[in-house]
Amino acid sequence: MAKKELTIDDIPGVGEKIGEKLKNIGYTDPMVIAVTAPSELAAIAEIGEGQAAKIISSIREKLDIGFETADKILERRTSVSKITTGSSNLDTLLGGGVETQAITEAYGQFGSGKSQLGFELSCAVQLPKDKGGLEGACLFIDTEHTFRPERIVQIAKSLGLDPEKVLKNIHVARAYNSEHQILLIDKAPEVIEEKSIKLIVIDSITSHFRSDFVGRGELAPRQQKLNRHLHQLQRLADAYNVAVYITNQVMFDPSIMFGDPVRAIGGAVLGHASTYRLYLRKGKEGTRIAKMIDAPNIAEGEAVFRLTEDGIKDA
Ligand code: ADP
Ligand code: MG
Repeated sequence: MAKKELTIDDIPGVGEKIGEKLKNIGYTDPMVIAVTAPSELAAIAEIGEGQAAKIISSIREKLDIGFETADKILERRTSVSKITTGSSNLDTLLGGGVETQAITEAYGQFGSGKSQLGFELSCAVQLPKDKGGLEGACLFIDTEHTFRPERIVQIAKSLGLDPEKVLKNIHVARAYNSEHQILLIDKAPEVIEEKSIKLIVIDSITSHFRSDFVGRGELAPRQQKLNRHLHQLQRLADAYNVAVYITNQVMFDPSIMFGDPVRAIGGAVLGHASTYRLYLRKGKEGTRIAKMIDAPNIAEGEAVFRLTEDGIKDA
């Protein structure tokens, strides 16, 4: 949890006007502001960059952040917890499940199971801790209009949860474009605290960025916006000890003659931002195969699972 004692009203340099602005957009957690770049805060609060820098540095002073000794980091890591995916194979591949304080990305072709994994996790996060959940709620940002409450009901039942309660604990927002998607995450801190959110799902992270920024000249602004958005997500994950699960589309690289031509969208920006990257593809007899592409402390490997009416299960 972020420090609660300090509020933005206590920060020198944050006048009533700026304070109101930040509150209006839900940008009120000093810890989150402290790690924001001055240019970013300037844009968000519509103030000068110099003023933004002053605000940030005075928050940093008050919060006493800077270097941390490794034992402190280890201590924070001990609060990392995991959400079960429904498949023990997949959980094992992930080192126990989908982690808090991390971004887990799944990319793969249409129908590979990216959204289904999002539905499963939205339910599983609500399970008791001894059943692989976090007894928390879910924030679900749907950008492709593929969120299906009917699937939630089926999966919740199979997990032995009350479907009515599970539906009430999934807070869904449809993002209409990339700006809206960014705004929803900028406003998330308020919702996270109020609704005890333990999981944020964005399905998918890239579709709007892809359609809003078309053409060569748009690539740099697109990647910058995407980068900022992803950093914001990581900050939320750290500050509130929540898990972030994002899905990503793929494209085909025509230059690959041998081997798998499937490539994740979002380039290096996304590759670096995701703590764990899963590549999902179809296997034999309706199974799905997840491959761990990139992880700081987990060996590369594969897991086979199945998409069923009851959600994700071992194959
Ligand atoms: P994407 O990777 O494009 O997001 P999805 O996660 O939506 O794909 O996966 C779609 C697949 O999930 C379907 O092709 C089917 O195999 C499976 N699926 C969806 N709904 C059900 C269901 N009710 N029962 C069994 N399998 C289902
Ligand atoms: Mg999908």
